[in-house]
Amino acid sequence: MGNLRFKATESATSRSLQDIKKIESSKPTTIYGKNVFTIAKMKDYLSKNTQKELVQLIEGGHQISREVADHVAQAMKTWAISNGASHYTHWFQPLTGTTAEKHDAFFEPDENGEAIEKFSSDSLVQQEPDASSFPSGGIRNTFEARGYTAWDPSSPAFIFETFAGKTLCIPTVFVSYTGESLDYKAPLLKANAAIDKAATEVVQYFDRSVTKVNTSLGIEQEYFLVDISLYNARPDLQLTGRTLFGHMSAKGQQLEDHYFGSIPERVLAYMVDLENEALKLGIPLKTRHNEVAPSQFECAPMFEEINLAIDHNQLLMNLMEQVASRHNFKVLLHEKPYSGVNGSGKHNNWSLVTNTGVNLLSPGKTPKNNLMFLTFFINTIKAVYEHADLLRASIASHSNDHRLGANEAPPAIISIFLGTQLDEILDEVESARVAKKVKNEASLWHGIPKIPELKLDNTDRNRTSPFAFTGNKFEFRAVGSSANSAQPMTILNAIVAAQLREFKIEVDKQIKKDVKKDLAILNILRKYIKDSKAIRFEGNGYSEEWAIEAAERGLSNIQSTPKALDVYIKEETITLLENMGIYNRRESEARHEILLENFFKKIQIEARVIGEVVTNQIAPACFVYQNDLITNVQGLKGLGLSKEAYSSQLNLIERISNHTNIILQKAEEMRQARKTANNIEDMRSRAIAYDEIVKPYFDLIRYHVNKLEKVIDDAKWPLPKLRELLFLK
Ligand code: ADP
Ligand code: MG
Repeated sequence: MGNLRFKATESATSRSLQDIKKIESSKPTTIYGKNVFTIAKMKDYLSKNTQKELVQLIEGGHQISREVADHVAQAMKTWAISNGASHYTHWFQPLTGTTAEKHDAFFEPDENGEAIEKFSSDSLVQQEPDASSFPSGGIRNTFEARGYTAWDPSSPAFIFETFAGKTLCIPTVFVSYTGESLDYKAPLLKANAAIDKAATEVVQYFDRSVTKVNTSLGIEQEYFLVDISLYNARPDLQLTGRTLFGHMSAKGQQLEDHYFGSIPERVLAYMVDLENEALKLGIPLKTRHNEVAPSQFECAPMFEEINLAIDHNQLLMNLMEQVASRHNFKVLLHEKPYSGVNGSGKHNNWSLVTNTGVNLLSPGKTPKNNLMFLTFFINTIKAVYEHADLLRASIASHSNDHRLGANEAPPAIISIFLGTQLDEILDEVESARVAKKVKNEASLWHGIPKIPELKLDNTDRNRTSPFAFTGNKFEFRAVGSSANSAQPMTILNAIVAAQLREFKIEVDKQIKKDVKKDLAILNILRKYIKDSKAIRFEGNGYSEEWAIEAAERGLSNIQSTPKALDVYIKEETITLLENMGIYNRRESEARHEILLENFFKKIQIEARVIGEVVTNQIAPACFVYQNDLITNVQGLKGLGLSKEAYSSQLNLIERISNHTNIILQKAEEMRQARKTANNIEDMRSRAIAYDEIVKPYFDLIRYHVNKLEKVIDDAKWPLPKLRELLFLK
């Protein structure tokens, strides 16, 4: 009988670097943006007037005229075809969590039976992908099946290359016939507009020349690599993205010798190839290094405008998978592919930048600039404090539940780390001493402590905080590695926008009462510092004491997704998001429904996989070995040896029986539990049932399977072991 595991390990270890197609080591400057229809490239194809209109469209988002759209479509087509593209697609981000495409050929047959190249403004601006099976949470009944993709001119079109050819991809939003968002991008764009408006109004207190505020985002992406043959021998990895069984290897990450260690050559070849491909698509990939866990790595592009950064991250995840297959690797983007080793996150580095080029989260040199910095800094802290539950919900998923609160990962408690320097500065601003000093405007500036320019290296590196200030940006670290950042970033922008709006109202109220502007600002900021103190935490976020202290402070610690999601349908949330113009009530409710459904389906799939692997692979392997032992014992007995002589074998037979019996029994019980859960109509209750009565079987079964893995003949064990998945080079 061929053991799949051995075939897999054999092919994994026999790979040589020669097998990998030679990577062209191109100079980044020559390939950067090669496959992107950038503004610079448009210059060759568009009249000055059209260019100007397009730039205005990108910046201001006003309606595009038919004529301009026609010109742009023609230009795009000419560029794409001259670069070898044969098809085009509207590229969008449905709520399934991946990206979607529907390819159409550029050519159409004409009445003479010849083919003509066709791509008009209609094909550019709007499409109806008839995508009735994308999740819509009931907004778009399948029988009407009408959803539209609409061009997002603020994200440039690009050509995606595969072995099968080249396709022009046009970034789009995906909305229903009745105008509701069915994707991640549409709400994000709305949230960006909301924060732009609110932040610009507040910046105007300090600088009247600012007319726009952009969000900038730099996304660090963590991932695991595993050899493709080993991956294919693990049904759990294949179908769920994580290992559902596996005894921890004798060496794990305890030596921490992987982090920033030298990168294995086979991996390096992958990274270089990935970087080349990313650069061609205009993704400014810059850093690469090993992560804490064995076989775990990270890559990060330079930060960009938020919409582009998120499109690029979605595209990067696709590329990572595509390039990996060329190197006989599989990329694991799951938050927790291996229990017992570190999980993967996607750190979202977030800040606000004015159209005059000022980073609003960068401490300034003058007291006035510092007051502006403090304004945005403190309002962000206040927003996170007020809406911590919503931020928590924005990163909730079944896969991230395994990571939040687990080994070496942010806990499910939202707190903010500022670093000693800034923590003390806020205490100082809040102190009574300052209050005394700033009674009148003449003395106001004494009340604002000098903020030394923070060197990035100086900012404390508290790796345990879910939301940390790192010099000139906040870093939201609790985002899961497989997530679309649009969800947490939509929420973050929404709550900061709402907070800034409230701030402006409060400050204006004081100004009306004849308080000088700067003093009014400082007064409100001091109040916010006081109000939001509970969210600030400088200690070890992974410690048990923190969970206790956080509870005393009244911070929530919601461990499971279905309960974390409740906040989405609270009246306050619905009103907040409606007021910010991001989701209407129907959209909030629909999203809540989709997230719950997604949650229980993931558990359902995992439960099925566990049932199958236990019954069809693990138990049979155990029986075979157990029969060997029985034959051995019978033989020894036949020789007339005393029971003493084979007591260990007997003991082993008994242990194998016990564990095998339990896993089969529990697998059956789990099947019954699934049935019970499936009979529950209400989506929230069903999701909770899956979480509370089905999921607990996972660890239980895993425990006994791992015991068996330890005692069964290595030659008979059917699944690649964690040691092999993590350490084979
Ligand atoms: P670390 O691992 O130390 O957190 P990295 O260099 O890996 O740092 O990643 C930091 C990320 O933050 C990069 O993507 C970087 O471009 C981004 N970044 C730097 N400054 C800003 C900023 N002002 N706004 C948003 N992102 C930023
Ligand atoms: Mg980081």
